[in-house]
Amino acid sequence: MACPWLSRARRSGLGNATARCERYNSAMRAITVVPGDRASAELSEVPEPEPGAGDLLVQPLLLGVCGTDREIVDGIHGEAPAGRDRLVLGHELLGRVHSAPDASGASEGDLVVGIVRRPDPEPCVCCAHGEWDMCRNGRYTERGIKALDGYGAELVTIESDFAVRVDPELGDLGVLMEPASVLAKAWEQIDRIAGRACAGHERALVTGAGPIGLLAALMGVQRGLELHVLDRADEGIKPELVRDLGASYHTGSIEELSAQIRPEIIVECTGVAQLVMDAMQHNAPGAIVCLTGVGESRSLTVDMGALNNAVVLENDVVFGSVNANRRHFEQAGEALVKADRRWLRRLITRHVPLERWRDALEKEEDDIKTVIEFPAAVSGGGDG
Ligand code: BGC
Repeated sequence: MACPWLSRARRSGLGNATARCERYNSAMRAITVVPGDRASAELSEVPEPEPGAGDLLVQPLLLGVCGTDREIVDGIHGEAPAGRDRLVLGHELLGRVHSAPDASGASEGDLVVGIVRRPDPEPCVCCAHGEWDMCRNGRYTERGIKALDGYGAELVTIESDFAVRVDPELGDLGVLMEPASVLAKAWEQIDRIAGRACAGHERALVTGAGPIGLLAALMGVQRGLELHVLDRADEGIKPELVRDLGASYHTGSIEELSAQIRPEIIVECTGVAQLVMDAMQHNAPGAIVCLTGVGESRSLTVDMGALNNAVVLENDVVFGSVNANRRHFEQAGEALVKADRRWLRRLITRHVPLERWRDALEKEEDDIKTVIEFPAAVSGGGDG
């Protein structure tokens, strides 16, 4: 493939192309997609990235796959960087630092994860305070999702402020830090809301026993809550994982379950419209209902007057939570280090080599978290 820098330089008369093309001779592979085009995802040859002054150059080892990636590949989500058709996919990174600027605090060989979101360019009041997860104007960008290339390439750059060091004790389980960061934020918000009144919350329900639901359950158990998980699967690894956490596993409806357990906190992790509505309707007085899932458009019939009255008269809080800032990534790292590493390892149900990346996006029965393995992947790490 001809070097794109050279052809661009010829067109525009720009210098500096030769050095870049020398690097391009060892073009790397990246999973790319044209957002909006469901037949476009491929393993492409792309130029290696040029680290800017404050950037780490990072070799991806593992890349987790989630529903957002599937939606992007299916053409229903995602945005390419300005002026380009293709977006490099991937936001759940575990990588190893290849080179780092002196002032970055990182060293060659460190394991890191990359923060997903970048503040909007204005920035809004929240982005200006490092709380880009609460961006008010929607002009934030996200690696591998919205207008910024992701981490699904053989080499990536990460601005040092947006790389989070993984505790060496965690090793390759650090690939769970990004999804865990989303729950660390959700629980931080729940804790803050719970602090509005004297009543201590004791019982929590998590809906969905996928990676997000199981990580939500882990953090609820770590808070000392009586934890219940509701899912559709009535056998397989999900019930086992929930029980091994010391939580109770249920199938059936939220309505029936709530009548028995009266959950004071519900973390809804499916985005399924009926479950969202049920979570809002069936809970204990003073309940906190945290919605973390996104789902398909679905019309439902609801007695909004009755629902309003129930929320008002019982002081319920229903709120949404998305993304994570640096503090949440750090909290996620702490929660994972405290967890039983053998339990965490069981969450990663499939490793797929980069060449077969497409298989990683297919959902298989009993899948919890699938990760794509890059050639540079460590064989050790974690304590199995
Ligand atoms: C990511 C979040 C992101 C959200 C919306 C999720 O999969 O984990 O960081 O904000 O998608 O794009």
